[in-house]
Amino acid sequence: MLRVGITGGIGSGKTALTDWLSTQGVVIVDADLAARVVVEPGQPALAEIAAQLGQEYLLPDGQLDRAALRKLVFADDTKRRTLESITHPRIRDELTRQMAAAQSAYVVLSSPLLLESGQSEMVDLSVVVDVPEAVQIERTMARDQNERALVEQIMAAQLDRATRISRADIVIDNSGSLEALHIRGAQLHRTLLARASA
Ligand code: ATP
Repeated sequence: MLRVGITGGIGSGKTALTDWLSTQGVVIVDADLAARVVVEPGQPALAEIAAQLGQEYLLPDGQLDRAALRKLVFADDTKRRTLESITHPRIRDELTRQMAAAQSAYVVLSSPLLLESGQSEMVDLSVVVDVPEAVQIERTMARDQNERALVEQIMAAQLDRATRISRADIVIDNSGSLEALHIRGAQLHRTLLARASA
């Protein structure tokens, strides 16, 4: 099975592209969703987080206190590495499992951190959805009702545009309309179907 990674910075249009591909019957495996699944109550990762980082990161209903944990690891690199050593192998296992179960001509792994996290090793090729930074900021602000400063802070923590593009096998320009993206999506789909059957 051909495994295709799709990534891009915040607000670049990963979801817009993968939503379109899924209308063509392509299975989309979502790394953000998998990251949530592995820390659900009852999952071993959640118990380990509580044991290693503190019971205070569990809410009264047994769910992970994401906001508190985010603050902790933002301020403390060692704690961040501890958290990642607990969650990353399990996210990887979950993604591997979902990709192996996929029943389509090829499978997509959609991940904002494909190139940063080593998840690119799990795919055969990487597709980057690309827009100029100004468009990224404008679309993210409109979608999330966020302040510009917050969007810029998130972008600063992600790979810069040039590095991301340099690591892509295929770049999809999403600076135009949604219709234009769908046309590029259709071209991409044809290319990937051809590679999958080669
Ligand atoms: P994130 O990493 O933040 O989840 P994303 O890469 O999945 O973002 P989308 O949510 O697909 O990005 O797109 C960001 C916003 O821009 C959404 O509101 C989406 O509807 C809009 N959008 C995406 N592509 C276009 C386009 N070509 N024209 C206009 N709006 C667009």
